[in-house]
Amino acid sequence: MAFGPSLRHANSAAGEWRMNERSNLPPPASGMKGMIWPAIPDSQGSALLALLYQLEQTQWWSAERLSEYQFRQVAEMLRHAQATVPYYRDRLAASGWPADRLPDASNWSDLPLLRREDIQGAGKALHSSAIPKSHGNISEVSTSGSTGKPVRLLATGLTGLLWNVGTVRDFLWRRCDFSGTYAAIRFDRTGAAAYPDGEHAPSWGKGFAHTLPTGPAVILSITTPVEKQIEWLRRHQPDYLITHPTNLEALLLHCARDGIRIANLKQVQTISEVLKADVRTLCRDVWGVALSDMYTTQEAGYLALQCPLEAHYHVQSENVILEVLDADDRPCAVGQTGRVVVTQLHNFASPLIRYDIGDYAEVGAPCSCGRGLPVIRHIAGRARSMLVLPSGEQFWPFFGGNKFSQIAPVSQFQLVQKTLESIEVKLVTARPLSAGEEDQLREVIVTQLTHPFSVSFTYVDEIPRSKGGKYEEFRSEVAAPWAAR
Ligand SMILES: [Zn+2]
Repeated sequence: MAFGPSLRHANSAAGEWRMNERSNLPPPASGMKGMIWPAIPDSQGSALLALLYQLEQTQWWSAERLSEYQFRQVAEMLRHAQATVPYYRDRLAASGWPADRLPDASNWSDLPLLRREDIQGAGKALHSSAIPKSHGNISEVSTSGSTGKPVRLLATGLTGLLWNVGTVRDFLWRRCDFSGTYAAIRFDRTGAAAYPDGEHAPSWGKGFAHTLPTGPAVILSITTPVEKQIEWLRRHQPDYLITHPTNLEALLLHCARDGIRIANLKQVQTISEVLKADVRTLCRDVWGVALSDMYTTQEAGYLALQCPLEAHYHVQSENVILEVLDADDRPCAVGQTGRVVVTQLHNFASPLIRYDIGDYAEVGAPCSCGRGLPVIRHIAGRARSMLVLPSGEQFWPFFGGNKFSQIAPVSQFQLVQKTLESIEVKLVTARPLSAGEEDQLREVIVTQLTHPFSVSFTYVDEIPRSKGGKYEEFRSEVAAPWAAR
């Protein structure tokens, strides 16, 4: 018997829980001797499944109910932060927040924002002196960020568990067949995923494989040339692929030109960079598969996952309070774009309370799928990837790689706004371009940027990805009046 999404929702709204109805969750592995089925997982596995069980229900809660429980949880976090984290003890005292005040929707904005510079300045003052033992092993998370100056935070076994739960929820939402082969083309920190072999793993994730058996995973470094990536994909025939949007676009354009399909591929997922709408269409057209995007950060874990039915994102309210604020720090309304401010609900080692992570997003209307998890319609990008016009107007420009390669043999490009009137275009080309080709490119660029910038071309052998594997098509070196905040 098949249940469509609306019926499923109707049932859930009636309080009936049906995780196993058409569920793609594989039978868990047992941690008890002699007990194979039904399984009794070990303590880690049981914790994972217990959380998943609840998440299957909380996704259908109303926004109000989700918010109520978020404040219950964050009250614990605040108490802990005030008592054991020097930075918050001082910061909250200075802002006049009494130690016994309970946070709620009406006083939440009284809490000061935490900026990246604050974290860098605070150093170890942001670490708790009394991390609960039950939260597991403590590790360090370091993110490089745009300035190259790293942010160092602590993670716990608990935050690791929640990361794994987010990963599995995403597989469930996307109705992945857990027995398939997963391919990842991503940043390769250790050098183990170099072409031609790449790295081979027995499962999709170390953190949950002992509970939920999956098929194998294959991993390739994102710095591998595009033709070799395609050869590698055709050799491994994965069911699923995860990579960065800029890399996916390069793969798709190459495959479109040569008419290449990856036979077994069922879905593609993108991470880590802003996804342009036309890449979704390209993926559908060239490979005939759907694309699903996600929004995560190393510091705070899963922020939002793409809705199973719509091309927008659901905030992961069980993990974070996510605010979208305007220039005056007021919450944005539906349709408005503002700064993303995140409170992680469970990191008691280095709490992040109202952390302004430097991204911009557009608030969406409640979703027709019935989930109460708030909606982000679009993730716009970072302040420094915004063009600043001489008029003071700003926007995030996008360039289809296709447009450039139709004019000239451009294999890679990057635009850098140097001043209010000038743009430098870095190009990797198969041969030097003629003056006529440069003029045509200039025309496309000026049209796209909506202003007659002075456009200069620089030819380079390669435009490398940043630390962490991110690629920037556009970057502005002009500080908008508010972008330095
Ligand atoms: Zn939805």
